[in-house]
Amino acid sequence: MLKKIDHVGVAVKSVQAVKEMYKTLFGLDPVFEETVAEQKVHVVGFRIGESNIEFLEPTAPDSPIAKYLEKRGEGLHHIALAVNDIAAVLGNMKQQGLQLIDETPRVGAEGKKIAFVHPKSLNGMLVELSEDKDEG
Ligand code: ZN
Repeated sequence: MLKKIDHVGVAVKSVQAVKEMYKTLFGLDPVFEETVAEQKVHVVGFRIGESNIEFLEPTAPDSPIAKYLEKRGEGLHHIALAVNDIAAVLGNMKQQGLQLIDETPRVGAEGKKIAFVHPKSLNGMLVELSEDKDEG
């Protein structure tokens, strides 16, 4: 059911600064960059082996990432787990009494189906479930 760590999400003040640093340090360019309007974030993703690191910059003061930065500063925000069937995993979690932030999947970066699970239900870790659009 769990395929791999799809990506880790890091909250930052400036994705531009990250892009410059990763270019200088590692000669690495992002594999994608986009604004996810619904979540009020601008995202850049770097490919590292089988997984990505995504850096999230808020695009509005009421963005969840803006609130995170205000409270805790830059840092690790969430871990995304790739699954084959996100609806089935969510259904199972609901049945087990886990607290879901998204009861049904929505569309995230790269057109993937995603859903967040509350950190209270998974050892203090904000988990994003992610299913590639060509699956399911
Ligand atoms: Zn993510």
